Amino acid sequence: MTVLDLLKKHFGYDQFRPLQAEIIASVLERRDTLVLMPTGGGKSLCYQLPALRFDGLTLVVSPLIALMKDQVDTLKANGIAAEFINSSLTYPELNRVRTRVRRNAVKILYVAPERLVLSGFRDFLAGLKVSLVAVDEAHCISMWGHEFRPDYRNLVDLRRLLPGVPFIALTATATEQVRRDVAEQLELTQPQEFAASFNRANLTYSVRPKRNSVDALAALLDEYRGESCIVYCFSRKSTEDLATALCERGLSALPYHAGLDTPVRSQTQEKFIRDEVPIIVATIAFGMGIDKPDVRLVVHYDLPKSLEGYYQETGRAGRDGLPSECALFYSYGDKVKQDFFIDQIENAAEQRNAQDKLAQVIEFCDLQTCRRKYLLAYFGEDWPQDNCGGCDVCLTPREEFDATVIAQKILSAIVRTGERFGIAHLSQVLRGANTKRIRELRHDRLSVYGIVGDFSDGEIKEVAGLLQAKSLLRKNSYASLSLTPTGRTFLKNREKLILTRAKRVEPALRVTPDSDPAQVWRRRDAPPLADEQADLAVDAALFEQLRTLRRELAEERNVPPYVIFGDVTLRQMAAYLPQSRESLSRISGVGAAKLEQWGEAFLEVIRSHADEQGLAERPVPGTRRSRESQGSKVSRQGSTHIATKQLLEQGRSLAEVATERGLSVRTVVGHVEKLVADDEDFDLGPLLPVSDRLEAIQNAIDRSGATALAPVKAMLGKDYTYEEIRLVRAFMRQT
Ligand code: ADP
Ligand code: ZN
Repeated sequence: MTVLDLLKKHFGYDQFRPLQAEIIASVLERRDTLVLMPTGGGKSLCYQLPALRFDGLTLVVSPLIALMKDQVDTLKANGIAAEFINSSLTYPELNRVRTRVRRNAVKILYVAPERLVLSGFRDFLAGLKVSLVAVDEAHCISMWGHEFRPDYRNLVDLRRLLPGVPFIALTATATEQVRRDVAEQLELTQPQEFAASFNRANLTYSVRPKRNSVDALAALLDEYRGESCIVYCFSRKSTEDLATALCERGLSALPYHAGLDTPVRSQTQEKFIRDEVPIIVATIAFGMGIDKPDVRLVVHYDLPKSLEGYYQETGRAGRDGLPSECALFYSYGDKVKQDFFIDQIENAAEQRNAQDKLAQVIEFCDLQTCRRKYLLAYFGEDWPQDNCGGCDVCLTPREEFDATVIAQKILSAIVRTGERFGIAHLSQVLRGANTKRIRELRHDRLSVYGIVGDFSDGEIKEVAGLLQAKSLLRKNSYASLSLTPTGRTFLKNREKLILTRAKRVEPALRVTPDSDPAQVWRRRDAPPLADEQADLAVDAALFEQLRTLRRELAEERNVPPYVIFGDVTLRQMAAYLPQSRESLSRISGVGAAKLEQWGEAFLEVIRSHADEQGLAERPVPGTRRSRESQGSKVSRQGSTHIATKQLLEQGRSLAEVATERGLSVRTVVGHVEKLVADDEDFDLGPLLPVSDRLEAIQNAIDRSGATALAPVKAMLGKDYTYEEIRLVRAFMRQT
């Protein structure tokens, strides 16, 4: 069996996610492998699939005891022999697992890191054939990480105990420092490193003004009725108050924080995982121990403490790849509140650190440019697009306006006040506010005092944000603004400046004088994100019936519903209405074992709904199997070019695909050539150079008369790239 066959048979999937195929290949070559992938990227498969190929045992070290049972249940549901060993097992249970492992009846064994030092466990290990060790949440081994676990240091001993056994270390923490540390601490030998993009394409980000906020929050949650949502709050007390307030508004919510009794906490968590309570109002303590793939909305009702935290917490939304939303409620008052808490920190270095982190969060909230781009840049990743189509800034209609005069006024005000003040003060000066402070500073005597009459405070701040994004001014410590060299040149040469901003709503249409332009934006109007799943014509009534069946089966088996099937699978069933085992098996997520166990139950529901409504089955498009049954070998070696194809079909450029997949543009062009060779209707149009370049290249290829590239390139000169030429050559072969 090929790895792709194993993927379909055991997991029910037709394609690999980006980098999975490459990582699995590295592990199968028995090389040490280091994997950096965001939450939801599909890390587990990177060791679970090789485990099926190896004849010995795959040992998985994971710090999250609470998760082990769910992971093992998920594997078992897929017909994979898995077990776990941790402190939750009784002695007889432990013995049973050990016996099964010794008899070679187990492929994957999860263990908690504290087991590794127990001599009993080491003796047990010594008698086994271990083929692979997977270290999940590998950042726990690093003191630089945010979740250092001393137990993880024992992994080095394990390494020495199992010489020659390959290790795969996986983490969603991206910093260079942690990555280096993981490789060193685990003593990985020349590890193959794979770093996926940290972009979460299916997540939409927004920042909303925090006004009438409980009602606004309730309205937002109401849009997600029946789906799983997490609301993060700053304090324990506010989680309780807010949960009560939401319940009073007819929503079903429970609070969760570290101050609750352990049994209450685990009950709440369990209810959430089992779809019994849709909304959890929590402090950040909630989420680490859960793997729920179908959280559709994560709200930050208070400011997060850092952008790392924000990224991690929002990362708990939409692990299954379906469109999900992250909303942050922000008010200036919240910033002041946070400042107050930071002022209480006694250690000066810690205080400074907290201030810096908060300043970054505030900058993120105040952004006038793409939030996704900013977040990714924060983690050192360059996002090539200007409009992501998935954050409130990018989704708000924008307009160009002549900003020359207002920009001159703002920059002059900065200079005249000595480049020592923040935007709040500068805005007051420009609008001619009559305050004591302004009089004391004698800023009312400056030539810039009161020269801006037609802009509100909010609008001045917006323009200042845009000027910062354009690098005309910069923000220093304590939020004071100063000019950059570009800014000085602009002012001196009286250059013209056109900027884009959120489209102004006509004053007559404004609901309140300061209604926020961001309010114009509605999530439901958002263009479909990078997910073809979003476009499925899902039969909502059938989807609900399938969810009910899933919940019943899950209760029977005492597992979380997502262990049976994920939302992606149910949505496809409710869109394609498969009515035979054969067509059901084509649905993503339906592997052999699940088909066997639950296929009939789901088919029955689908058939009777289809009968009642007079609906017919629809063909499941483009699965690997249907193509293979036509005798084509297209996808044998390469799900990798299929992954490229999907991204291209979503309108990404070659450079974007390359960045997103961690490949070179050259490799991506290679994929395109293969796609064209496999399918003569493949649309090269969007990838070709502009018409005069296209023509020049076509001429050169014609003239050279050969298939070799070098002569063509020589003719064209260094203005043209090999990649362009290869694309045009493919195009000419096609037409
Ligand atoms: P991570 O550990 O990186 O957060 P997981 O391994 O939990 O991610 O995978 C996230 C989700 O994606 C799971 O629901 C998993 O079943 C699904 N998944 C993983 N690989 C694929 C794939 N190749 N095709 C479709 N779904 C996948
Ligand atoms: Zn954006």
